[in-house]
Amino acid sequence: MVGKESKMKNKFIRKWLVILTVAAMMIPAGIPANAETVEEGENIAPTAGISAETPNVTAETQKEEISAEMPDMTAETQNEEKSDVQAEGQNQAKQGVLEAVRQNTEKAEEASDAVDVQAEERTAGEVQIGEQIYPTLTEAFAAAKDGDVLRLLENAEVSQPILLTKNVTLDTNGFTVSAAAGFKGNFMFTNRGTFNIVGSGKIDGSVGTYPLIMINNTGGAVLNIQSSEITGQGVVQNVGGIVNITGGTLTASARNTVLSQFGEVHIGASAHLMAAGEGKSAVQLIGAKMTLSGDAVLSGNGGIDVFNSNRNEEGTVSAQVEITGGRIETKDFPVSGNNQESAGAEVAITGGSLKNISGGTAIYWPMEGQLTIGGNAVIEGGTGIEAKMGTITIKDNAVITGSGEWKEEKPQNGGANPEGSAFLGSAQMYDGCINDSSLVVNILGGTLKSVNGNAVTIYNTEEKSDVRADISVTGGSLQPAAGKGAVKVITSGDNTTRFDPDKKTLDTMKSNTTVKVAKDVAAAATDRDGKTTYYNTVEEALGSNTEDGNIHIYINENSSVKQEALEGENVILTVAPGVVLEVTSGIDGMIVKETVHEDGSKTYELVNAEELSAPKNVTVTADCKTVHIGKKIRLKASAEHDTKQVNYLYRWYKDGALLNGAVSAELEVTESGNYAVEVFAVLEKDGTTLTSLGAKSDPVKCTVTPHEYEEKWSSDGKVHWHECTICKNKTDVAEHTFGEWKVTEKATEKKDGRKERSCTVCGHKETAVIKAAGKTEEPRKESDKTASVKTGDKTDPAVYIFFVILTGGMIAILSAGNRKNRRK
Ligand SMILES: [Zn+2]
Ligand SMILES: [Zn+2]
Repeated sequence: MVGKESKMKNKFIRKWLVILTVAAMMIPAGIPANAETVEEGENIAPTAGISAETPNVTAETQKEEISAEMPDMTAETQNEEKSDVQAEGQNQAKQGVLEAVRQNTEKAEEASDAVDVQAEERTAGEVQIGEQIYPTLTEAFAAAKDGDVLRLLENAEVSQPILLTKNVTLDTNGFTVSAAAGFKGNFMFTNRGTFNIVGSGKIDGSVGTYPLIMINNTGGAVLNIQSSEITGQGVVQNVGGIVNITGGTLTASARNTVLSQFGEVHIGASAHLMAAGEGKSAVQLIGAKMTLSGDAVLSGNGGIDVFNSNRNEEGTVSAQVEITGGRIETKDFPVSGNNQESAGAEVAITGGSLKNISGGTAIYWPMEGQLTIGGNAVIEGGTGIEAKMGTITIKDNAVITGSGEWKEEKPQNGGANPEGSAFLGSAQMYDGCINDSSLVVNILGGTLKSVNGNAVTIYNTEEKSDVRADISVTGGSLQPAAGKGAVKVITSGDNTTRFDPDKKTLDTMKSNTTVKVAKDVAAAATDRDGKTTYYNTVEEALGSNTEDGNIHIYINENSSVKQEALEGENVILTVAPGVVLEVTSGIDGMIVKETVHEDGSKTYELVNAEELSAPKNVTVTADCKTVHIGKKIRLKASAEHDTKQVNYLYRWYKDGALLNGAVSAELEVTESGNYAVEVFAVLEKDGTTLTSLGAKSDPVKCTVTPHEYEEKWSSDGKVHWHECTICKNKTDVAEHTFGEWKVTEKATEKKDGRKERSCTVCGHKETAVIKAAGKTEEPRKESDKTASVKTGDKTDPAVYIFFVILTGGMIAILSAGNRKNRRK
């Protein structure tokens, strides 16, 4: 436990280290932190021309760059740090922050010393522009005109920072650009024009103290990286410009790979950004916009840090991120922010995949702002998403997976707590917002699954109980680990759980936190000591009652439940309005008490059986004991009770097995068997209903005799059949199959003849007249069936089977029994 806490503190401190380093780089002393302050350099640097041509300008530019990088920020930063620490309430963090300030200050002094050393130009490369060959890259850049392509002809060394103000393309062409020994300056390239990088070569800043960052894109400049490997402590710093990275591999060893204050960063196609430095990220946004698309990959330590331009201070600009594709696979958060630095951030993820490969949280969202996960986005981490405030929407076909070990500790301040959920909400934990530190979560769709824990876990920490939290789960598929909850809500107890009949949700509330879960998502929930767990099915909810102590089970939809589930007097069962449920007690000495609430929901609990005794003299009478098939035996139950106001509830059994749906005093029997009835007394008074223990009758033997068919055929002119001697029921009904006509009396000139044929099955005979040869009139017909019976015609009597399907409300029958009974 101590180790865990200290680890989280480290995370907290590290996050602040990142911020302070950024602040140190971006904010000159005494000037408010915004883009204008960084662009101050425009007044110092030439508005046109190349630094290499004018040594004085070079020195000035270096100074400007270094001052932007390493301002004298001790006072400023310490003030900021102080307020932060107070706001955060983490005194332990203070030492770490101060240490960071001290280290940054030392670094700034080193850098300032470095400026004083005169830059030495070296000529080790050859570069081609059109037909022209230049001895050094510096000279080539100095000569380049708008639209020129600088093509490396061999490896090139750069001895001093290069300032670009035109639209030029560097084709690395399989060669390497590196900093010469003794290079001084924070950036290898500062771009104020349009800088395109293509080719299969490298820009390598991995050796030496400088440059700190390979390309500084500033003042509305456009940087297009289409290919090449670029390595350095940091690769790109963008201040208000536009950076398009569509290819190549950018690797930063000690800083964020791409840092953007204001401006835009677009990463797509086959780009790969790698953050190799401990605690660093592939992209850090400071009030900037970003898109990630295509097959781009962000890897290494962190993915995307989402920060404002000026903390959450007035006038701050929030970051915006749109992810439609690509892949973020990082050891730290693929996407994260900070409650005091990221308010108003907007992150929309509709494609691509984000994975924390070290089992940490994938998206850490402790801040005010909008996080939307939709489309076909795939998120995976120890916890998929952890949010402490903001508006979180999950929809469409997004798949969010929590794959970490399941933990149930309350989330701590100052960091993520991977615990196995797909979504973890820690409500009422922080403020530190601009407008509203509520947590609003809408799960409308998507799949949230947990390998080891709950699909969704919501904590009400009550550290800021005035902060509102509204969690609504109305759609999607929640897939917890076996035995875990679809949604688990943890409060400190005394939470209220109720049905919302309009929204068809089951709601759990505690101190400004409301969690609503639709019945389509979770059919039932349990409430035990302030832990409300929603389950996909009623069976899971009932089956979760494995601990001692009181449990309240809520059922939000009609269900068919066969198992014995209520395990004693510690169980209270509440069903939503309209849910039909039959609950009986199977525990000796306990009976069911039902209470109907104002909202129409009903609560069932077990009370002492002495409150209503079982019926007496339960018997079954039959109108007869034996009937022929097709007739019914009518059974009637009767019972007596000392209390005259009672009604009775009936359950019928055939051969010892419960007949589902047979719940009235009478039963019509059409099958042979031994029939018995169990009768419960029901007493209604003062809004409650008591149901007694059941009393069973002796069984009554009922016999239904089968048909007895004659062996001989019966027939009429059309068909033959076998007939039951008892009820005249017909079977084997079929048309006659006649043989050939045989003449029994020949016709003469004046007199009609006769012919005859018989059925080959039953022997039925049929006769017909043969017309006299001299007669002209129609012969008188006598039993002439040939016209009406045509064998072979499709007049076989069809057999129709009518299924009478009786439908009705699903009735769940819960048989309460104690564990002893179940285990017998
Ligand atoms: Zn019969
Ligand atoms: Zn026949």
